[in-house]
Amino acid sequence: SRMKVMDLRGVLKGVSQLLETQAILSNIEIHCRLGEEPGFVLCDENQVKQVFVNLIKNAIEAMKYGGAITVTVCIDRDNAEIVAEVKDEGCGIPEEQIAKIGQPFYTTKEKGTGLGLMVSYKIIENHRGKIEVYSEAGVGTKFRIRLPDAGRQR
Ligand code: ADP
Ligand code: MG
Repeated sequence: SRMKVMDLRGVLKGVSQLLETQAILSNIEIHCRLGEEPGFVLCDENQVKQVFVNLIKNAIEAMKYGGAITVTVCIDRDNAEIVAEVKDEGCGIPEEQIAKIGQPFYTTKEKGTGLGLMVSYKIIENHRGKIEVYSEAGVGTKFRIRLPDAGRQR
C-alpha cells in the first residue's frame, strides 16, 4: 500500500508552492496558515496532493479579479480529526447548485470537465474522511477536509 503517516502541513505547503506562480499570474496570493502542531494523517500522498491541487485550482479559477486564497490546517481534538481548509474570495456557488458539487460532469466552465471534485470526494472517502462546502455567491467559498488524526500512532 502507498499509505503512510504524513504531516498534512507539509503536503499543503508543497501544493501551495506548486501553484504559487499560476496564482500570482492571476493576481492571487496564497496564504498558508499551517499552525504550530503537526497534523498527522495516514494517506496516499499523491492522492491527497491531487485533492488539494484540485481545490486550489478551482479557487484560482473562481477569482477572476484576484484576491487571496487561505489554506489552513488544524487539529479537531474532540473528533480526533485533522482539518484542512481552502478558502477563496471568488464568485461563490449559488445555493441551488451546492448539491451538484462533486457530481460527475457538473461544471460551469467552458473548458471544464466536472471531474476534479468527484475524484476529490472519492479520494477523501477512501481515506475515511469528509468534505464540507461553505459558499456564498459573490463572497467566496470554503472547502473543509476532515481526515482521521493519525497522531496517536506516534
Ligand atoms: P471543473 O473545475 O472542471 O469545472 P470541478 O469538479 O473541479 O470541475 O468543479 C465543478 C464545478 O464546481 C465548477 O465548474 C464550479 O462551478 C464549481 N466550483 C468548484 N470549486 C469552486 C470554487 N472554489 N468557487 C466557485 N465554484 C466552484
Ligand atoms: Mg476543477
